[in-house]
Amino acid sequence: MSRALDLETLAIRAGIHRSDFNEHSEALYLTSSYVFTSARQAADRFCNREPGNIYSRFTNPSVTAFQERLAALEGGEACIATASGMSAILSTIMGLLKAGDHVVASRSIFGATVQLLTNILGRFGIETTFVPLSDIDAWRGAVRSTTRMFFLETPANPTMELVDIAALAEVAHAVSALLVVDNCFCTPILQRPLQLGADLVVHSATKYLDGQGRVLGGAVVGSNALVVEGGVFQFLRTAGPTMSAFNAWVCLKGMETLGIRMEAQSRSALALATWLETHPAVERVYYPGLPSHPQYALACRQQSLGGAIVTFDVRGGQEAAWRLIDATRLISITGNLGDTKSTITHPATTTHGRISEEARQAAGIKPGMVRLSVGLESVRDLQDDLKQGLG
Ligand SMILES: *Cc1c(COP(=O)(O)O)cnc(C)c1O
Repeated sequence: MSRALDLETLAIRAGIHRSDFNEHSEALYLTSSYVFTSARQAADRFCNREPGNIYSRFTNPSVTAFQERLAALEGGEACIATASGMSAILSTIMGLLKAGDHVVASRSIFGATVQLLTNILGRFGIETTFVPLSDIDAWRGAVRSTTRMFFLETPANPTMELVDIAALAEVAHAVSALLVVDNCFCTPILQRPLQLGADLVVHSATKYLDGQGRVLGGAVVGSNALVVEGGVFQFLRTAGPTMSAFNAWVCLKGMETLGIRMEAQSRSALALATWLETHPAVERVYYPGLPSHPQYALACRQQSLGGAIVTFDVRGGQEAAWRLIDATRLISITGNLGDTKSTITHPATTTHGRISEEARQAAGIKPGMVRLSVGLESVRDLQDDLKQGLG
């Protein structure tokens, strides 16, 4: 076969190395260390003269299988798995930047990422400037002589605003900065940032890669030069925010259904978004798969589907939004997303509840805004569940 395997196939077949037992399903290697055949082999492994496992803080066969599978899906040379999405972002920055370096980041990124960049990394001399996601001139204008990294999520949470990754990669590369994309919302099934010019992709595997709300995990994907030799792996093996073998195994099994889940959940999300847009109690729907989305053309170019997150404003502000959320019987009220179980969130009082009113307005978070993470239940049942509270 001359052509490359399709993503759905890679999600099931990439990264498999069978043991001597020739097991069909991926084995779970629960071991903290590995045995050497001789003192010489131990010395050769420790001094990097011979490849192989030494200790599971560094490498583990179950984790390696997960890394190879995700690298294949993202089209990256190398992948390093981490204990969570946040430790993937931490490892990327600690591995590649130093005191005095400057980051330009989208202002519409995960709340903990904002805290990490400002309150924690700021104390170690890494400064961050936040800019409006889709305003390419603002990114260009924020660059300093010390800028080493651009960081973003597209689509943004919860406003579903997008940015043109290829256009921003050109701006970043013109000033020798790295472009890092948090690809958690789309997964490589819908969007492959490395193919569009990004240097690194980070993931919260906790979301769609597991897909069933069981474990925490994260990953960094990119070139060997950046991920392995450039310092991300060095930071991980030394500081230790490693993914556990068990979590890697759960995510590996989760990824086998990533293709059909992303397609089915996106299809349901589009159906619900289309219906919500015509509902008299709904003021506005934010979904990249709808022709009414202001960046619909970019979404069609950059993503293969709209994704499984639908955000909408209900008429009547926070009171109406809370009434809708409290009226649901099926959909789970939780901050998490990316699960086969649909979830509903009121961003203004939860994920974005601790920032100032001013910052909330700048981020486009309205009091009547509701975020729906669409799972695998039937569209009819989800619709019925929402109807009760929409009146
Ligand atoms: C959840 C999330 C994270 C953090 O991941 P954890 O696994 O919870 O540490 C980072 N970025 C995005 C976009 C997320 O949704």
